[in-house]
Amino acid sequence: MNRFLVDSMLGSLARKLRMCGFDVIYESNLEDSSIIKKAQDEKRIVLTSDEELFLRAHKNKVGVILIKGKNDEERLLELFKNLGIKEFELEIIRCPICNGELTEVSREEVKDKVFFSVYNLHKRFYLCKSCGKIYWEGSHWEKITKFFDRISHRLRREKFGGK
Ligand SMILES: [Zn+2]
Repeated sequence: MNRFLVDSMLGSLARKLRMCGFDVIYESNLEDSSIIKKAQDEKRIVLTSDEELFLRAHKNKVGVILIKGKNDEERLLELFKNLGIKEFELEIIRCPICNGELTEVSREEVKDKVFFSVYNLHKRFYLCKSCGKIYWEGSHWEKITKFFDRISHRLRREKFGGK
């Protein structure tokens, strides 16, 4: 699976890629030279909307994709087409906030950590091993699912390669 390093302009894209299970590093204060070095060291593809960084990475033989879309839907479509990804799955395995690994935990374990209404309404909970944030498939999740359904649909409908 591709691993990415996302530049500071594309934070929300980084979070969405993590929701599809991708390993994504996103740091807002990295210099271009550090981004290139990190991508080389960790074999990550750089995603950037900065043409200068794109050219510089390219020159240094770092995998890089120039992202031009004006919203995350366009950006994800662009990226998936570029990489030839025709199908993807929403996976609750990675923390959208910190890229940490998520693990399913029992309701009892989160009982004192979430609002009672949340505890009451949901059966499955996930804990981030890195930052400790707790996730559940709530109303926000439905919105996210719809967003990705739209992308799946467009990926299937739009032809690859052609314009
Ligand atoms: Zn986390």
